[in-house]
Amino acid sequence: MSQNMAYYNDGYNHDFTDEDAMRLVRIAASPEYRPHTCRWIDSGTACDGVIQGLYFPTHMRECHSIFVVGQDSPRFQCQWEGCSDTTLASKDILMRHIQERHLLWRWNCPNCGMVFLGKVSRNAHHALCGVSNK
Ligand SMILES: [Zn+2]
Ligand SMILES: [Zn+2]
Ligand SMILES: [Zn+2]
Repeated sequence: MSQNMAYYNDGYNHDFTDEDAMRLVRIAASPEYRPHTCRWIDSGTACDGVIQGLYFPTHMRECHSIFVVGQDSPRFQCQWEGCSDTTLASKDILMRHIQERHLLWRWNCPNCGMVFLGKVSRNAHHALCGVSNK
């Protein structure tokens, strides 16, 4: 029997498995640190700018005028190329829509590698993950 066949059922250290390597790669590829291509349609053409995930909200504000100008709750419509969503959303909801639908952000639990569509649900899971050592 190969030692590489050992799975996570005893709570002790294992050799560095393919699964570990995959997990590290996924964390390094966290959407916040990956470059994304912006396909926001402005004046008839797609932006095409490449922006690191972390700076996407800044980019949307500075290049596409998605910002809050002292109104209580300004609403924006998604102008992403090919997007058929015509609902008006607040800036925060629009940013989440862009991240989830157009940039296809995925969030991993650093603990178990489970994938989530939203950072909030990932964080909620992560808070509990590993607490009970099952
Ligand atoms: Zn853009
Ligand atoms: Zn959209
Ligand atoms: Zn987890």
